[in-house]
Amino acid sequence: MAASSPSCSIAYEARRLQVLADYQILDTPEESAFDEIVEVASLICDAPIAVINFIDRDRQWFKSEKGLGVRETPLDISICSHAILQPGLFIVPDTTREARFANNPLVTGEPHLRFYAGALLESRDAYPLGTLCVLDYKPRELTERQRFALQALANQVMAHMELMQAHREQAELIRELEATKRELTRHAATDPLTGLLNRRAFEQRFAQEVALIQRGALPAAILLIDLDYFKKVNDTLGHQAGDEVILKFAKLCREVFRQIDVIGRWGGEEFVIMLPRTTVMEAEHAAERLHQRLAETSMRNDGASALTITASIGVCALTGTSTMDECLYRADDLLYLAKEQGRNRTVSQA
Ligand code: GH3
Ligand code: MG
Ligand code: MG
Repeated sequence: MAASSPSCSIAYEARRLQVLADYQILDTPEESAFDEIVEVASLICDAPIAVINFIDRDRQWFKSEKGLGVRETPLDISICSHAILQPGLFIVPDTTREARFANNPLVTGEPHLRFYAGALLESRDAYPLGTLCVLDYKPRELTERQRFALQALANQVMAHMELMQAHREQAELIRELEATKRELTRHAATDPLTGLLNRRAFEQRFAQEVALIQRGALPAAILLIDLDYFKKVNDTLGHQAGDEVILKFAKLCREVFRQIDVIGRWGGEEFVIMLPRTTVMEAEHAAERLHQRLAETSMRNDGASALTITASIGVCALTGTSTMDECLYRADDLLYLAKEQGRNRTVSQA
């Protein structure tokens, strides 16, 4: 490009290249929509060569070409890079008579280009990106109709690229919306402090499990857990420390129970766990593991003085005839017994 052009500032060229990159057209495969436009340009202008080209940083790249046999050439021998410096059509009736092109190797040597007509490919915000051009081996002109058609076809190239860009943006928006929807669904199902299932989500999983058992799956077990003397934790260490303990307890549960077990925060310092395909006795062993882990784990983070807590647990069976209310009612009764018998223990359904 001519260094004197006002549109040749480094910042402008950087912006132009960015706009071109945003169309995501460079180095894409041939596409029939563009090939057909090139074919029609060649036909209408009665020219042996027709090209859709884009002026990149240091090359001109052809999205589609007829009669040239290459997909890119260096910029320093490009005629199109001159064409994009001016609006509308750029016509060189005889390249050998123009000082700028007379010594161009494509003019002096193969393929001996003598005639050039390029219609500007301009972005929505008026950045020149390339040209739709026709070339010939002999000096000549374009009729008024041919000029009109070449410009109209160039406009169609840009219209098609705009559509492709809009389509990509729309697809991206849909992807973002779907990610947001997944995130919202996850939020609606989880307790914000612990990330465990909330009561509503747990109830759904419970209903699914009952349905599975009705269709022949083995029965499951339910654990209802209440942290002992938790009020005292809040009273002595503050509510925030209490929250941290609840969080740590949730983490511990994830470690102690299996991947398939469903852990929910029932509310406050109460948790409910569903163990699919598990007998009451097996569930009791799992509860014992939890008591054990609690006994050997400080619930406060580094730096704070150690704090262990205990929990009381009620365990009952979940069968194909169980309902959520009835099952939790039974578990709560057993939990109450565990509290009564001195806490830090599990009481199971007989
Ligand atoms: P018990 O052994 O009989 O269960 O005694 P407790 O102190 O645990 O029982 P209580 O139901 O009297 O108290 C539960 C306490 O848990 C009261 C409440 O402030 C506290 N709590 C409930 N939810 C949260 C919470 O999200 N964060 C904090 N920090 N405390 C909570
Ligand atoms: Mg409680
Ligand atoms: Mg409690």
